[in-house]
Amino acid sequence: MYAAQQLYYNGRVQEATSGKIFTTVDPATAKPIAEVHAASERDIDSAIASAQAAFPSWSQTPPLVRSRILLKAVSLLRERNDEIAKVETHDTGKPFSETSTVDVVTGADVLEYFANLVASGGLNGETTQLRPDAWIYTKKEALGVCVGIGAWNYPIQIALWKSAPCLAAGNCMIYKPSEVTPLHGQILAKIYAEAGVPPGVFNIIHGDGAVGGYLTKHPGISKVSFTGQVSTGQKVAASAAGGMKYVTMELGGKSPLIILPDTELENAVDGAMMANFFSTGQVCTNGTRVFVPRSMKSAFEKRLVEKMEYIRSLEPMDPNSNFGPLVSETHYKKVLSYMQHGVEVDKASLLYGGYSKPKAIPRGYEQGFWVQPTVFTNCTDSMKITTEEIFGPVLCILPYKTIPEAIERANKSKLGLAAGVFGKDLNQCHEVISKLQAGITWVNTWGESPAEMSVGGWKQSGVGVENGRRGLNAWVREKSTLVEGGGAVGTVFAKL
Ligand code: NDP
Repeated sequence: MYAAQQLYYNGRVQEATSGKIFTTVDPATAKPIAEVHAASERDIDSAIASAQAAFPSWSQTPPLVRSRILLKAVSLLRERNDEIAKVETHDTGKPFSETSTVDVVTGADVLEYFANLVASGGLNGETTQLRPDAWIYTKKEALGVCVGIGAWNYPIQIALWKSAPCLAAGNCMIYKPSEVTPLHGQILAKIYAEAGVPPGVFNIIHGDGAVGGYLTKHPGISKVSFTGQVSTGQKVAASAAGGMKYVTMELGGKSPLIILPDTELENAVDGAMMANFFSTGQVCTNGTRVFVPRSMKSAFEKRLVEKMEYIRSLEPMDPNSNFGPLVSETHYKKVLSYMQHGVEVDKASLLYGGYSKPKAIPRGYEQGFWVQPTVFTNCTDSMKITTEEIFGPVLCILPYKTIPEAIERANKSKLGLAAGVFGKDLNQCHEVISKLQAGITWVNTWGESPAEMSVGGWKQSGVGVENGRRGLNAWVREKSTLVEGGGAVGTVFAKL
């Protein structure tokens, strides 16, 4: 068991006053691992007040100085990588082989990227000479107190992807982790404090959707950056719109992966597996609709089934484990119901896995939320399993005849988060990518999302981007100033 999780604001742990306590469980065992104390509205008001008090000084701190502090936090995160990864493994169920190489690492990279960006002129504006004696200059200014609301699949990574550019740009943040995976909150807040981030600049509030809702409509908040489901994102964006708050929305997907006929079979299979089974399929950008040329279908299926045997559900801390349980009982039931629907209602052909309990659950972990990695084939575009986000390890093979047909079908979705193509002819890959309606795209790879790459969804998958140079602009507002140097003020109110 971990210590009870309280709130963190104004530079220290603070007791929540709502009297509401929820429990977080280890999904690998289904056993409780910590009690979490939810914030009351009064607590949230206090946290926001502490952030408002911190804002004038933090926003006026020179970017180079802010950068130095944030880089110290980067070092602390890297020093404590394995310790934090272990907590994330308990909280999310993800194998340690994954949390120790991805979750903290990719979060720290983004913090390092934005710290360096603001220290090297990333917040500079533009100067334009309008006339010989008139100039326009622009300035990027921090927004104020911002809210971050995270999903449960990459807890500390999401908290860092939001707080890194937010703090680097001079804003303060109130961050609400998902109720399902809250343990990283205190850890990150304490690391920021140890690095020298002043009290009130980064704060943690725990609670459910109602707490999130109170935060998004609070008049003291300037921006909301949200990661989660489309349906929740719609509520959050609507609530923020009432106060004309800036928003960034990182939402769900149902992304297509197109395998071109010239793709090497091994690459096609490896790419499709990485796009579907990494993190037990709980990745927003998963390439769940796998378009396979009819001519390659049987060879692809045969090799895929062979390679599915390399998916290993072992004890989460075993370095050879590469497939954990689903994150919670609720999510487990949801994913199983999609698998069942695929078999019984959609009538897709079940090629591998299914909704029965997996046989290879590690000893002592039988009560956890383990599922079988599952492959459906002969899928069609109108099935529920090919149209709705499952957010689990369910790969759907959609056979196609011609490339234009595959592109047209790939784009038949309300969502547009990610897309990818595999093939030997790079020119053809570029052409296909140029026609796919998605904000995050890959050629001959899947899933890598480095700090340098701006990521954000099209259509209902989101608004705005995170990371990359464009990611910083989401945390500032521009001020344009026109300076007249001619001496006399131009006026129409002169004497006739
Ligand atoms: P949810 O939308 O259920 O929850 C996300 C967060 O919103 C949680 O912290 C949740 O709190 C909070 N919340 C719930 N209701 C409200 C409300 N009315 N106002 C404000 N906040 C609220 O998403 P999941 O946690 O289930 O995450 C999975 C989803 O996230 C998938 O759709 C996935 O695709 C998407 N995602 C998108 C990413 C991207 O970059 N595009 C990256 C990762 C995930 P609580 O948990 O306490 O209910």
